[in-house]
Amino acid sequence: MIPLSVPHIKGNEWKYVKECLDTEWVSTAGKYVGQFEDSLREYTDAGHAVACVNGTAALQVALRIVGVLPGDEVIVPTVTFVATVNAVSYQGGAPIFMDCDDYYNIDSAKVLEFLEKQTETRDGSTYNRISGRRIAAIVPVHVFGNAARLEDLLDTCHERNIKVVEDAAESLGTAYTEGRLAGRHTGTVGDFGCFSFNGNKIITTGGGGMIVTDNPEYAERARYLTTQAKDDEVRYIHEDIGYNYRLTNVQAAIGVAQMECLPEFLEAKRRSFESYDSALEDVEGLQLAASPAYARNNHWMYPLRIDRQAYGRDREALMRDLQSKGVQTRPLWQLNHLQTPFRDFQHYRIERAPRLLEETLNLPCSVNLTQSDVDYVVQALVDE
Ligand SMILES: *Cc1c(COP(=O)(O)O)cnc(C)c1O
Repeated sequence: MIPLSVPHIKGNEWKYVKECLDTEWVSTAGKYVGQFEDSLREYTDAGHAVACVNGTAALQVALRIVGVLPGDEVIVPTVTFVATVNAVSYQGGAPIFMDCDDYYNIDSAKVLEFLEKQTETRDGSTYNRISGRRIAAIVPVHVFGNAARLEDLLDTCHERNIKVVEDAAESLGTAYTEGRLAGRHTGTVGDFGCFSFNGNKIITTGGGGMIVTDNPEYAERARYLTTQAKDDEVRYIHEDIGYNYRLTNVQAAIGVAQMECLPEFLEAKRRSFESYDSALEDVEGLQLAASPAYARNNHWMYPLRIDRQAYGRDREALMRDLQSKGVQTRPLWQLNHLQTPFRDFQHYRIERAPRLLEETLNLPCSVNLTQSDVDYVVQALVDE
């Protein structure tokens, strides 16, 4: 069986975890938590990094800190893992769903059009003309490691006091290479960026997340809220309601070891991407989805685009066939504006997303994928 995406634990993970166990520093205090934060902060060149139990919790905390209150609205893409939208719900916020562009990311042109046509700004905030509610934030997602096009959006959101929380769960290692954001890592251009180290992500801590921000007050608040809002640790004084969201030392130890391997992982992801890409050149009706030319991609996922007419099979048939040949693949997530909990919320001109959902299948993309794995998958795609 060739799985879709599994962890690769071949570096110093054992050594660092053993040290945690030998010294009995297993909980949220311990040197690796700080080291993991430093390592991610330095790598992404973010101002501050706060470790967190997982990416979903990171998003929730970020949304709370930028001021999403019950009844506020938050702009989200319909194409994303449900956690993005759940985090909005945890804050009592209402999602407004947007379409995607050709890279599976939020369609920034449509967001700008929506803001132009359907919202108004008063008293320094932006209000939805239809619902009358305040639009407090937007959560662009860098889907599959593709950098979302944020250049134009950032200024408009700033002018309209719409906070930008980047869901960079899938895009560690992706950085802009062109335009005003050139050189900046995804996750570091908005008010907050949130990373995930779930088992299927480019690096993993088993479960884990990171909140990054350039704003020192936001960072301090994130640290405070993720550690039970302790105002006096000794006397147990709490001025606010916090969360038990801090990463443990054992998880962070794995994270430090994984960060050491990140450059090598990125190289492996790129190599397999190129192998698939060139092997698929001769296959009628199939090609890997293009990634944005304005960024260096981490190639976390390998979305395959299926031209059903030319290829002769649809996504569902192909997925079933590959499964029977021992190749695990996955489609896009069900569009979130159609999911049961979110059906009644507003969505704006969702046109491209349904088509991409039908045309896309993600191919195995683990860091430890070998050339012969790639050859096997491609052969399975070619054979009837
Ligand atoms: C994985 C993921 C999350 C959630 O991260 P967890 O660490 O699993 O909580 C959020 N958003 C996106 C886009 C993801 O892929």
